[in-house]
Amino acid sequence: MTTAAAGSPRTYQVRTYGCQMNVHDSERISGLLEDAGYVRAAEADEQPDVVVFNTCAVRENADNRLYGNLGHLRPVKAKHPGMQIAVGGCLAQKDRGDIVRKAPWVDVVFGTHNIGSLPALLDRARHNTAAEVEILESLEVFPSTLPTRRESTYAGWVSISVGCNNTCTFCIVPSLRGKEKDRRPGDILSEVRALADSGVLEVTLLGQNVNSYGVEFGDRYAFGKLLRACGDIDGLERVRFTSPHPKDFTDDVIAAMAETPNVCHSLHMPLQSGSDDVLRAMRRSYRSERYLGIISKVRAAMPDAAITTDIIVGFPGETEADFARTLDVVREARFSSAFTFQYSKRPGTPAATMDGQLPKQVVQERYERLIACVEEITWAENKKLVGETVEVLVAVGEGRKDERTGRMSGRARDGRLVHFATGELAGRIRPGDIVHTVVTYAAPHHLNADGAPLAHRRTRAGDAAEAGQVPRTPGVLLGLPTVGAPAAAPAPVGGCAAH
Ligand code: SF4
Repeated sequence: MTTAAAGSPRTYQVRTYGCQMNVHDSERISGLLEDAGYVRAAEADEQPDVVVFNTCAVRENADNRLYGNLGHLRPVKAKHPGMQIAVGGCLAQKDRGDIVRKAPWVDVVFGTHNIGSLPALLDRARHNTAAEVEILESLEVFPSTLPTRRESTYAGWVSISVGCNNTCTFCIVPSLRGKEKDRRPGDILSEVRALADSGVLEVTLLGQNVNSYGVEFGDRYAFGKLLRACGDIDGLERVRFTSPHPKDFTDDVIAAMAETPNVCHSLHMPLQSGSDDVLRAMRRSYRSERYLGIISKVRAAMPDAAITTDIIVGFPGETEADFARTLDVVREARFSSAFTFQYSKRPGTPAATMDGQLPKQVVQERYERLIACVEEITWAENKKLVGETVEVLVAVGEGRKDERTGRMSGRARDGRLVHFATGELAGRIRPGDIVHTVVTYAAPHHLNADGAPLAHRRTRAGDAAEAGQVPRTPGVLLGLPTVGAPAAAPAPVGGCAAH
């Protein structure tokens, strides 16, 4: 047990940057620290005893941002004896000892493969009054036994693999997260079951490339089997996954999605570019024809599927004709939403030193045309849902204007964002509950439902949200989840164009 003063536990704060993988790693960091006796600092607390930065190396200027933030903390730490600062995540994996050379007031640097060492490193740094830097080159096995402090009562992330065996030329993930390590199916299903037992309704299976899941133990159909096995878990209402990869996507996954009732008909399938030449330069080994072939098979099996994507504009060497091909694929695929990124150099990636880097204004102009094209399609697709009944899992923090409009917000089964009027049920619907309502208006990025809800189902997740509790999953081999008091999680900053 670690204490700041006699009897008072040390407080911690985790600041998260980057992708969903990092957000989930932060849940594990919080779980580990709480197991070691730390308590989460109140949001207004400007002097927690431990501040952990979970960093991202994908965004441009990520290092400037980190060193800027570390600089701000220096005087805070000087006034607060005993305060410790730890830096983990992809940037720590990349910069290693440089971090303590540039910011000697940092106490601990830990990598993406050794999150589990953090409490011991903090203790050691305090005891030795010297910085501890521990970076492992690779994982031996997937770390299934780390406890996790969940941020939600109704939805949970479950890692199925870490790392990636691909070598996309714009991506830093392979060099920082290493080769793919698959988690054992039994461990994954135990964690999903533990979450469902604690009242969680929705689980998202998480991996850099979920379709190659099984590569380590020689079963290329392992992911489809995992989806089907999730279908047998009592109480689990929604199963999602991210991210698939068009190269490894197999038809059995489509069948598993269509035939397993709790698997949602939503698919986030990264396109990146519609041009085969650009895909080749990106070292993405599928071509647009294969991509569109998968989309049409998904639509044939699940006509209600919502398909979303990631697209990078302005990759080195992209011509106007290449870009036009991307617009063609966007029109044909009819995405319900797209994350669009302007290409910018990521130090350490092969694409950063390629010829044919495009001027900023060319990239900006194409980006604006892409957004206009995407919005035209997403809006048209959303309009098709006006008059339809949707099942909404009520969420926290999805509707910025809810307070002003008197609505609540959540996600439909296909992943679309729905803002709905609560009518006479105002005050009785809680985050984590399920509402059925009719869509009355469509915008490019959301749906509104302004009639009275048709039905409201109170859930155990809603009870827990009302009581201010979130599930904790100890390492799945260690036991069942317990329930702890939550604090609002800091919103992740930035985003990740890794796919
Ligand atoms: S973009 Fe995705 S598939 Fe490609 S190397 Fe990065 S993590 Fe792997």
